[in-house]
Amino acid sequence: MPTTGRTLLWLRRDLRRADHPALAAAAASGSVVPVFVLDPAFVEPAGPVRRGWLAATLRALDAGYDGRLCLRTGDPRAIIPALAAETGATEVHVSGETEPDGAARDTAVRSLLAAAGVGWVETGSTYAVTPGRVVNSSGDGFGVFTPFLRAWRAHGWRAPAGEPDGLELVEVPSDPRGWALVDEALAACPVPLPPAGEDAALARWAAFLADGIDRYADDRDRPDLAGTSGLSPYLKFGIVHPRTLLAHLAGRRGAGAERFVAELAWREFYADVLHHRPDSLTADLHPLHLPYDEPGAGFDAWREGRTGYPFVDAGMRQLVATGWMHNRVRMVTASFLAKDLHVWWPHGAAHFLDLLIDGDLASNTHGWQWVAGTGTDAAPYFRVFNPVLQGERFDPSGDYVRRWVPELRHLPGATAHRPWEAADGYAHGYPERLVDHAEERRDALARYRQARADTLGA
Ligand code: FAD
Repeated sequence: MPTTGRTLLWLRRDLRRADHPALAAAAASGSVVPVFVLDPAFVEPAGPVRRGWLAATLRALDAGYDGRLCLRTGDPRAIIPALAAETGATEVHVSGETEPDGAARDTAVRSLLAAAGVGWVETGSTYAVTPGRVVNSSGDGFGVFTPFLRAWRAHGWRAPAGEPDGLELVEVPSDPRGWALVDEALAACPVPLPPAGEDAALARWAAFLADGIDRYADDRDRPDLAGTSGLSPYLKFGIVHPRTLLAHLAGRRGAGAERFVAELAWREFYADVLHHRPDSLTADLHPLHLPYDEPGAGFDAWREGRTGYPFVDAGMRQLVATGWMHNRVRMVTASFLAKDLHVWWPHGAAHFLDLLIDGDLASNTHGWQWVAGTGTDAAPYFRVFNPVLQGERFDPSGDYVRRWVPELRHLPGATAHRPWEAADGYAHGYPERLVDHAEERRDALARYRQARADTLGA
């Protein structure tokens, strides 16, 4: 049963009520003031899509906390200690944060609270296994996925947390500017948002379990099908905890369930890599010392989906129109920028982060580094995705391309992937190919060989 104290539950990337270890810990210490701080340092760089998604999520979160979410705006270094003093809270409870800026912010808030005699309690994180916990026999983090996956499974995770007994939520007034900003962000969101909140996340998951997971191993690479869970926006803000998903999958057999667990593990792996190597946000994990080209007109064409390669352009237009892109197409579009246009991956990663509803520092950065050959892949640089063959293989009917590239809708079936072979391929204004893929592939590999020779010879 709760004691009579008062606690703050400072919500960040754990915007849910179910399976919430930090909520359970806060409730065990007393009545709970749930608070979210709209921190300009995090909210402003998020871009209008993710701001809109956060806004919709906060509205749903408030309803989930019985209308008692306290929303404040400003720097948490000022807001959280002041709110603790205002409410007489003796403890601040959080889910642990391991992203570099969030972790630095927490260290600062924690020491300000300590100076005021307020406790700081971290319980759980936004991952099944908190980054930093899975280590090899020397106590270091893993640099390659497969051994990480093995060790992550062996480490295991706790069962989901239940709703705390006798939870008493305390209403503390919000900063009215906060909800006005939420409404502004919702109004300014340039894409249609998925249904917000944890009920929506769980409904989506239930639908996927009923009618998706058994086909997941086969369909997950097909952007023309609805073959994936679509849960990334919910995982992004901790609207659903991965442990909840893993608990539902426990004991479920089949290639689809196996594969889905492995994909969740990629998310955990990348968070773990970021935890050990925060410098990887802006620098190559394994530097190649390649001569890159400055992002110019080609970069603009890539961003706008005008490269003349239908599969690439479909992906880039899907991203702009919906704030989401299928994983296979993320790989192919990223490869095109890095290896056909020879632009250093951080330029592309920043563009993705501006637009993605699920934009996540660890998954995005390391997804990009993996494709660019500077990251965690064991055999990296020589994989250069052929944008035409990838399209024909993973969008065999051409439906995905026609959905996002109206200028190619007149081309039937797989011919949509090769407008240059159709007499009327360019009849509706589709652009000619920006570069010759075969030539750029040779160029990319020549740059790589030259850089290696220079480095080894230096
Ligand atoms: P599902 O196939 O249903 O997978 C379930 C969950 O597993 C996903 O929601 C995600 O949390 C995790 N997952 C699946 N694949 C990966 C992967 N390759 N890496 C890490 N986690 C994975 N994912 C993000 O969540 N945010 C990003 O900013 C992001 N940027 C990416 C950038 C690039 C260049 C690449 C190649 C991949 C990126 N990914 C990112 C990973 C992946 O594309 C998305 O997680 C996936 O497309 C989300 O759709 P889904 O939820 O339907 O996936």
